[in-house]
Amino acid sequence: MRFQIEAAIQCSAALPEEGIRILEKAVQDANERLFRKGVPENVDPVEIGRITAWKVRDDQILLTLESGPYTRVHDAIFRFRKQLASLLGRLRIGLRGLEVISYRVLLDEGVTADLVPRLPFIRGIAERNGRVEIDLAVTASDLENRLPDRIVRLIEEKTQARQYGGKTEHWQLLYQSESRPRIYTGNPTDELIARKWIKHGSSRGQWIYAPQAVQLFRTFERIVEEEIIRPLGFREMIFPKLDTWDVLSRSGHAKGVYPEIYYVCTPKTRDPAYWEDIADYFKVTGEVWVEKIRERIDGPIGAMCYAQCPSFWPFVQGETLASDCLPIRVFDRSGTSHRYESGGIHGIERVDEFHRIEILWLGTCDQTVEMAEALHAGYSRVFNDLLELEWRAARVTPWFMAQEGMVGACGCESVGTTDYEALLPYNESWLEFQNVSVNGDKYPRGFTVKIQSGEECWSGCSGIGLERWTAAFLSQKGFDPAQWPEAVAKRIEEIPDIFRFL
Ligand code: ATP
Ligand code: ZN
Ligand code: MG
Repeated sequence: MRFQIEAAIQCSAALPEEGIRILEKAVQDANERLFRKGVPENVDPVEIGRITAWKVRDDQILLTLESGPYTRVHDAIFRFRKQLASLLGRLRIGLRGLEVISYRVLLDEGVTADLVPRLPFIRGIAERNGRVEIDLAVTASDLENRLPDRIVRLIEEKTQARQYGGKTEHWQLLYQSESRPRIYTGNPTDELIARKWIKHGSSRGQWIYAPQAVQLFRTFERIVEEEIIRPLGFREMIFPKLDTWDVLSRSGHAKGVYPEIYYVCTPKTRDPAYWEDIADYFKVTGEVWVEKIRERIDGPIGAMCYAQCPSFWPFVQGETLASDCLPIRVFDRSGTSHRYESGGIHGIERVDEFHRIEILWLGTCDQTVEMAEALHAGYSRVFNDLLELEWRAARVTPWFMAQEGMVGACGCESVGTTDYEALLPYNESWLEFQNVSVNGDKYPRGFTVKIQSGEECWSGCSGIGLERWTAAFLSQKGFDPAQWPEAVAKRIEEIPDIFRFL
């Protein structure tokens, strides 16, 4: 990676002879000493920032700098300007603004042009000796904000993502349960529909659940509550179900969630007169005037609940938590999650609107990892002894973690996600029906949460998908309660069909 900048420093007056001599010495000193500060001894000098050309034109100093990854040209130029300002101060000449004339980055071999992001800061992409060179349109303040570093890092991430092979996660088996006799081989969604326990809602990937189906949901919730949540000391909270951009930025979801969220807009005003024609249009035509509505709304201001736990964090944002309240253990089951699942919708397993219990905990690294282990033990007991499922657990490294360099970088192998998968006998596939994640300091860092001891604050979460539990259970155990494990059967009471369709 090579960086090159051409820039002009504006002076308060034309440089006299002596000023030029000072400048010449300052350039020499910068190349030999100033730019090497903080660079390890063994680094090849061509990798370090250097002023390769300079010229004085009236009251402007024109500079060209080149660098490899060390003391990159944008750092070097500010370091130089500061040094020069104090030297020229003796002549009562001040340094004003910095104008970037050009900024080019020669990318590493193997990085192809399609990995360069399409952003307004990229003015051009060219090829030089088989390597891609990008021409950045950046101002001095962009340089101060280290925009070139971020662009380069993004290109590196995209390169790594390609090497990751387009997979969203890296999968590794942790545990496989014993196999179970096949009691049922049907597709439970078909049977649920036939029994009128569920019907399609009006929106895509949305179901309306009748009392019989809800009873199963609530049974699973009770099992989780009685067997796992309460014994481990979790308390119920209610998290918001509209996530603002601020929350999604801090949680990291803003890095890529766009194709999968339901966007939320607000009216430009709540003055009824502003909306009267739209209401009248409906009264006359029976149709909702969608194009007109589009002109009268603001936003999107954020998304409908996507991952359930991000909207908890403003509760502790900016706070320092006392050691004696850790680990914090809470859960939320107060509403739906929404994902635009595109072509992937199947039965009740993959829907756009779903129901989850989200368990969340935070504390020290040790407390966080210990809680994940306790949850894993609890879940294993529930799946083996109470639900008698055929299931397996796998460690997956979600792409976002690999991307943020969280794996290994923090020196802890425990950061990551365990997925719990159940066998669906009707198509012999495995369905992820819940997970447990140790998220390291990702959320506490994003929402600036500290703990009293000064140790790093860590957090974890676990999403229990009720649709997925139901799909997994019914796929394996069928619809005859006499065949169900006792833990479920004893909690289910018969519900008469309360609807009779004629
Ligand atoms: P998948 O790979 O199946 O899309 P995911 O990795 O997107 O799942 P997570 O973001 O880890 O899922 O969400 C945690 C839990 O939320 C899942 O284990 C599952 O129980 C539930 N879940 C996620 N997406 C859906 C969906 N579209 N329909 C029903 N439940 C879902
Ligand atoms: Zn979560
Ligand atoms: Mg998904």
